[in-house]
Amino acid sequence: MRIGIDLGTTYSAVAAVRGGTAEIVDCQDGRLTPSAVFFDDGRPVVGMSAKNMAAVSPEDYVDLVKRRMGMPGPVHIDEKGREYRPEEMSAIILAHLASQAGLSLGGEVREAVITVPAYFGDAARKATRDAAEIAGLRPLRILNEPTAAGIAYGLLRSESGTFMVYDLGGGTFDVTVMRVGGDDLEVIATDGNRALGGFDFDNILITYAALEILATGGPELRDGGQGEARLRAACEDAKRRLSQLDRAMIRVAGPDRLHQVPVTRRRFEEITAGLLARTEDISESVLAQSNLGWTDIDKVLLVGGSSRMPMVADMLQRLTGRRPSMDINPDEAVALGAALLADQIEPEDRPVVVGPGAGGFRDVTSHGMGIAALDDRGVRSNTVVIPRNTPIPCKRLRDFYTTRANQAEVCFELTEGDSEDIDEVEVTVLDMIALPPDLPEQAPLRVGMGFDADATMYIGLFDVTNERFLGEYQLSRPENMTREAKEASRRTLLELEAGRE
Ligand code: AMP
Repeated sequence: MRIGIDLGTTYSAVAAVRGGTAEIVDCQDGRLTPSAVFFDDGRPVVGMSAKNMAAVSPEDYVDLVKRRMGMPGPVHIDEKGREYRPEEMSAIILAHLASQAGLSLGGEVREAVITVPAYFGDAARKATRDAAEIAGLRPLRILNEPTAAGIAYGLLRSESGTFMVYDLGGGTFDVTVMRVGGDDLEVIATDGNRALGGFDFDNILITYAALEILATGGPELRDGGQGEARLRAACEDAKRRLSQLDRAMIRVAGPDRLHQVPVTRRRFEEITAGLLARTEDISESVLAQSNLGWTDIDKVLLVGGSSRMPMVADMLQRLTGRRPSMDINPDEAVALGAALLADQIEPEDRPVVVGPGAGGFRDVTSHGMGIAALDDRGVRSNTVVIPRNTPIPCKRLRDFYTTRANQAEVCFELTEGDSEDIDEVEVTVLDMIALPPDLPEQAPLRVGMGFDADATMYIGLFDVTNERFLGEYQLSRPENMTREAKEASRRTLLELEAGRE
């Protein structure tokens, strides 16, 4: 069985196509599952029952793992000293969602389309794919979240036009401009911020409440422990209420007594105005990259729980002159789109066709990929081979030249970023590649670089002089796990699930 999974920073959702329509699948916690893990005596518990333990035992609690995807290093070390990488923690969440969905759907879930923010880099996409494999799921596709939302709107509502997807989630922000017509969906441009979301709005409210409590002679609740976890929960609750009410009370138990801090919606909007303005700037920038203006946007689709804050719709109405659309639940659109795509992917991974007929969808690269090399003046600089916002799948060829005769090897430095300045891009892989003997100076080496439909990249090298393919290189990134490590993790996860230590 196949499902679509919106693996969110704070909440995750699962959907499946049943009887021709995409529907959210109920899990233990209902339609949304907190992306939170609690280690109960070393064994992982996922969802609301984990989240409820955050304040009680913060050292056994892990959340916001998505922000660490594609980074090495543990997000948690349990009491026995076992270290958990971000993809292992995500695997625990994915395994829980898949087994819950299996119970609801009455079968075993083996395959899934999993969504990621559009601007996730290559390492974070691979980490997500690895997480699925550790969880025992075949990742059918790693799909960009805004594209998934576009698929949900386009296919569920059969609308066409130029859409902007404004996706403000728990920990991330994405804006995407796309054209939808008939069964086609074409992403024109996308951008985002990996560290901007509801969590940051919570943080500002936490500071506000903590200072108010201090000002009335109360204790400092931002202790990095239980007090802070309770304050965070109280502030997130109050923030949600402020989406419906014009004032709310933040109620939090301190070590001394219950503290109550009143806050109005207007005050909340004032103190978080800077965050909202950042989303406006990014939206403007994506429009500029699309060569479009606000009047060209037929509809803004709101995605992500934080887009429920009334100030978001107010801002977008001011910019577009029209009320944004929320007719598909913003928490659910991404999972629904993922499920629709999962249902459409051919078993043998043939090119994806969405919907009936000859339609399809085109996504774009969310960051430039290139090669670090010496330029004409002998200065090490970045050559962007595939610029950002290039439709995918795609492949580009570019010639580089040896610097001396009989050069034995080249140092391959892949870059992720859009600047020519090497200091402004991320050099993601370092590899020494042996060259055939007796190449003259300035011998052309042709680099073929491409993104597959997952926006995961591949790279090949061709020796033009001898007309020989030097090989397609598997990217070995220190940030990602090796096959052996993944297999070991899978075994550990199975043991944990079986209740053995
Ligand atoms: P997501 O990553 O899309 O699951 O986003 C969840 C985020 O949306 C969290 O930061 C929630 O606090 C936030 N959120 C959910 N519902 C509301 C609401 N009614 N008003 C404001 N924020 C909300």
